[in-house]
Amino acid sequence: MKNIPVTASPIDVKAGCDEPNPSLLTVQQVHQQLAQLAKPVTGIERVAIRSALDRVLAEDIISPINVPSFANSAMDGYALNFSDLKSDADIKLNVIGSSFAGGSFDGKVQLGQCVRIMTGAQIPDGTDTVIMQEQITRDGDVITVGQGHCAGQNVRHPGEDMQQGSVVLTIGKTIGAAELGLLASLGYPEVNIRRKLRVAFFSTGDELRSVGEPLEQGQIYDSNRYTIFGMLKKMDVELIDMGVIRDDEQAIETAFKNAADIADAVITSGGVSVGEADYVKLVLDKIGKVDFWRVAMKPGKPLALGKINNALFFGLPGNPVSVMATFYLFALPALRHMMGQAYQQPLTAKAITKSTIKKRPGRTDYQRGIATHEDGKLMVDASGIQASHILSGMSQANCFAVIPQDSGSIAAGEEVDVILFDGLM
Ligand code: AMP
Ligand code: MG
Repeated sequence: MKNIPVTASPIDVKAGCDEPNPSLLTVQQVHQQLAQLAKPVTGIERVAIRSALDRVLAEDIISPINVPSFANSAMDGYALNFSDLKSDADIKLNVIGSSFAGGSFDGKVQLGQCVRIMTGAQIPDGTDTVIMQEQITRDGDVITVGQGHCAGQNVRHPGEDMQQGSVVLTIGKTIGAAELGLLASLGYPEVNIRRKLRVAFFSTGDELRSVGEPLEQGQIYDSNRYTIFGMLKKMDVELIDMGVIRDDEQAIETAFKNAADIADAVITSGGVSVGEADYVKLVLDKIGKVDFWRVAMKPGKPLALGKINNALFFGLPGNPVSVMATFYLFALPALRHMMGQAYQQPLTAKAITKSTIKKRPGRTDYQRGIATHEDGKLMVDASGIQASHILSGMSQANCFAVIPQDSGSIAAGEEVDVILFDGLM
């Protein structure tokens, strides 16, 4: 981490000291740090293509064939030789046979002749153009074709989709439904993918109880382990749920060491805000290389990032909304990069605000928003309760409305960037 130029310095918390006031790290600087820290796992598995769904390719896929492999019809109609047609008169042609998908018409079509053809069927020898059946009239074995057609229309050519020998998928591509279909269309039964990422996660805090346990005075249920579980589950990683760890130096050290031994990435929540960082920071200084930051964002200001041995460490804040926001904005791109994808920040779209968004300059604001389509325009309403402990707001939202660091309030009717939740949340 030391070779990355950042203007802010990590917070050096000493037990008992007042909170220092270091400059804040920008969101962009966090991404720069993560793009350096996160390294793709090297292990490769060879699996049947269906098992590769949601995983990342570890090889380039080269097309062994042309797709389509033969010229075929895009329509149900009649295959003919374009030179038969006239620009100023209708013509009549004899139907001499048919070509169905999966079969073929044997023989050569001569001038003055045509062949009945179905979508996907081979273009018969001697023809180069298909006229849709709706555009002719047929009387017995004779069709009448009008004017205004184009040479080669409705013919799909060999290699038009994918050419034999060309790279059609590259290393780092995530296999989705389209890629599964594409691999199948090339006849690939198996592919090489990166091995599954192992992610350990736990919560820290003496106040936390797990569901099923009774709550005593001052205690709350641990919800972060459930939101983190939910988001990780949809990423198709191997989950290692290590439960709740007490605010106790020995317990924290043991948990961190165990997690780093078995996982590629360790995600914790809580215990990284300055007032509370004592044990977590003490332990991480001893066993890892982790920096504690205050990020110029809202929610999600405190954040610890670094390495424990080879494992990437994310110390997310404790507040439930901050956890989801920092996971989505930072952990997600970093983990996806470790899975083998290129590092990519969340994509944004422009939306028009439906009401005033209050803000002071200084931090990038990720307001919980509800995006809708109205009269063909993307609108966003971010007027709900925005505090970082209000998890119900996260449940109502379907996007973050992003208000830049230096911006003040945004008036209704102005444009803002939105990050639409892509199904993880
Ligand atoms: P901390 O950063 O540990 O001081 O936590 C900040 C706030 O988040 C406190 O109100 C904690 O009680 C709350 N919090 C921390 N961890 C969790 C958790 N796992 N589930 C729900 N709330 C939590
Ligand atoms: Mg805590």
